[in-house]
Amino acid sequence: MAQSILVIGGGFSGMTAALEAAELGEEVYLVEKSPYLGGRVMQLNKYFPKLCPPSCGLEIQYQRIKNNRNLQVFTMADVVSVSGEAGNFEVTVKLRPRHTPASSVDLSRLAESLSQDADNEFEFGLVKRRPLYMSAPFAYPPRYVLDKENLSEEDRSKLSKSKQIDLDQEEKNITLQVGSIILATGWRPYDTSNLTNLGAGRIANCISNMQMERLAAPSGPTEGRIKRPSDDAAPKKVAFVQCAGSRDENHLNYCSYICCMASLKQARYLREQYPDSEVDIYYIDLRTPGRYENFAQQTLADENIQAIKGKVAEVEEDLASGDVWITAEDAISGRKLKTRYEMVVLATGMQPNLAQETLPLNLSTDEEGFVSESDTSGIIPAGCAVEPLDVMKSAQSGTAAAMKAIQTVRGR
Ligand SMILES: Cc1cc2nc3c(=O)[nH]c(=O)nc-3n(C[C@H](O)[C@H](O)[C@H](O)COP(=O)(O)OP(=O)(O)OC[C@H]3O[C@@H](n4cnc5c(N)ncnc54)[C@H](O)[C@@H]3O)c2cc1C
Repeated sequence: MAQSILVIGGGFSGMTAALEAAELGEEVYLVEKSPYLGGRVMQLNKYFPKLCPPSCGLEIQYQRIKNNRNLQVFTMADVVSVSGEAGNFEVTVKLRPRHTPASSVDLSRLAESLSQDADNEFEFGLVKRRPLYMSAPFAYPPRYVLDKENLSEEDRSKLSKSKQIDLDQEEKNITLQVGSIILATGWRPYDTSNLTNLGAGRIANCISNMQMERLAAPSGPTEGRIKRPSDDAAPKKVAFVQCAGSRDENHLNYCSYICCMASLKQARYLREQYPDSEVDIYYIDLRTPGRYENFAQQTLADENIQAIKGKVAEVEEDLASGDVWITAEDAISGRKLKTRYEMVVLATGMQPNLAQETLPLNLSTDEEGFVSESDTSGIIPAGCAVEPLDVMKSAQSGTAAAMKAIQTVRGR
């Protein structure tokens, strides 16, 4: 019987699962595919219910991880094979090279000296990044990454002379023996390129809710000033389109639970930054369950934030100004509305990562890609791999998964 636990995915649910198990004395391996821990929460400006920046919750987790000898973290790591069964799995993990020193050396000057820019996934395409980069603000581990694929010949030659860069580092495989596997692979934003009817990809000032998080974040591409992409103007009249690609059998056939709260939160970002701004939220049903109802009521008490029950029928661009026209039917008054906005935010839902990725595991997923729980497989799903959740519920789900994993490795 192998006593160790493997956690796949280092977002809030995976980190919580790994820490809870490690702090109870279990040996835990945490495998994260990106260069940093924290998952999607790292990309938020603030998170409810307290509306604190992500650093406030995540830095505590990072300290706990640093101080725990039972927990080993592998970033830029992919699970490539799994054999065996509950209580006795053999797992091969591929570690991709960073090409940078193992300690947290400041390589910002070297990075700035490079010429070529690459797509910046962390900022959802709002800006570019250098091929040598820190993958996230306050990233853990705080280490630079070299994206060798995107190096120009000139940059490669410059880096080959640097003592800090090892261009020859290669990927390597490690093998882990574990008794239980926690699957905390989380979510990705629904691909807006499927939502051209709502303006995505064809109208510059039509952005997604995750882009809005980055625009509002002090660590983001505009240093926290919310500016519209076409001309950097301050958007003073903004619409949010709820259920953009959600509860729709052609896109995501479910409610992502969080999007109404996210838009209400983002309406506050705008109102705080621009006191003369106006926000309209077009919704089908405004879903703010449990204690979130208070947050919704407080937000909607602001007379410059209107919630309009009505499905958006058309989104058009005013080519001269870059403004966006929205046509909708107000379901309460029955009136057809056509309103001009300076920016539109699409409230897109959360799609499980496993809808688009496969893992070498025998998993039972539903048609949307969410993992179903199983008591006997030794593979325990957690967080948004199971269903759309907020951070608090993701953490609770991680704790519950840790308890089940411990029971498996202790043979109970
Ligand atoms: C617009 C928006 C705003 C939000 N705002 C809030 C808010 O204010 N408050 C709140 O409580 N919640 C908010 N949420 C929800 C919050 O983001 C989630 O609750 C949280 O991210 C769930 O954490 P998780 O660990 O389950 O998933 P994730 O954060 O997605 O983490 C999963 C991790 O697994 C990694 N991973 C994926 N596949 C693999 C693999 N094959 N191998 C290894 N690693 C892998 C990923 O890289 C990632 O690091 C918001 C969501 C949206 C859409």
